[in-house]
Amino acid sequence: MRAYTTAHLRVDLPQGHPFPLYKYQGVAEALKGLLPILPAPEVPREALHLAHRPEYVEKLFTEGLSRQESLRLGLPFSPSLLRRALFAAGGTLAAARDALELGLGLNLSGGTHHAYPDRAEGYSLFNDVAVAVAWLRREGFRGRVLVVDLDAHQGNGTAVFFQKDPTVFTLSLHGERNYPLRKERSDLDVGLPDGVGDEAYLYALDEALEIAQAFQPELVFYNAGVDVLKGDRFGRLGLSLEGVRKRDERVFRMVKTLGVPLVVVMGGGYNRDPRLTVEAHAGTYRLALSSLA
Ligand SMILES: [Zn+2]
Repeated sequence: MRAYTTAHLRVDLPQGHPFPLYKYQGVAEALKGLLPILPAPEVPREALHLAHRPEYVEKLFTEGLSRQESLRLGLPFSPSLLRRALFAAGGTLAAARDALELGLGLNLSGGTHHAYPDRAEGYSLFNDVAVAVAWLRREGFRGRVLVVDLDAHQGNGTAVFFQKDPTVFTLSLHGERNYPLRKERSDLDVGLPDGVGDEAYLYALDEALEIAQAFQPELVFYNAGVDVLKGDRFGRLGLSLEGVRKRDERVFRMVKTLGVPLVVVMGGGYNRDPRLTVEAHAGTYRLALSSLA
């Protein structure tokens, strides 16, 4: 077992920008000693073309994003930002291959589920899960894929990528009143009220996972965003650290019952207490290892 990281890649951000670069370093630090942590490989441009609109990809490499497009992304566009996104997506691709080979693939980055086929949005330049699925298809993987997106925000981009693909089931549990305000249609959307606590959350999750399981997936991607934690700057939900552990446990238990490979990607996490963000993310990966490795 191994995990991929983008922690070594720097990005030029304005001082005080809320993007939590610190957590990639923190999570890698917290997990070293448990398993080898490798620098994520760069995603082949060809893989980006398979999933995204090629014009969009090429525009990023030539012109970058306009001011307006950067506002929508929530990050100022720069070569360092593009570079980091290439490795973050590459990490998910490598983790997906690991999953098929070893049963479990871990990317300590990725989960950029707001990227659409033709545009960037919400900290997401490339939709790493869509890119990985497209690449696996190209390599001949034909199995049914389930995307379990438990980040606090709807996986709107992911929903659009797979809307017309009957071989991929998208499940998103998210804050109904939270970003993105205009929701897309996943195969199963569960919108939760602001401030939802552990009990109500886990009840809704149990119901959703039961439906998702009936799809009989042969590969599962898990967006394990921890912005569901109480005290998150953007999440608006109210889970405890123990609630997040129980959430993860349910996903891993389902995967174990199904006996299928799992890919874990990081997703969001912007707690006012940075230590909590790191602890929650690291907890997800530790539990994945102890339950599935
Ligand atoms: Zn989020």
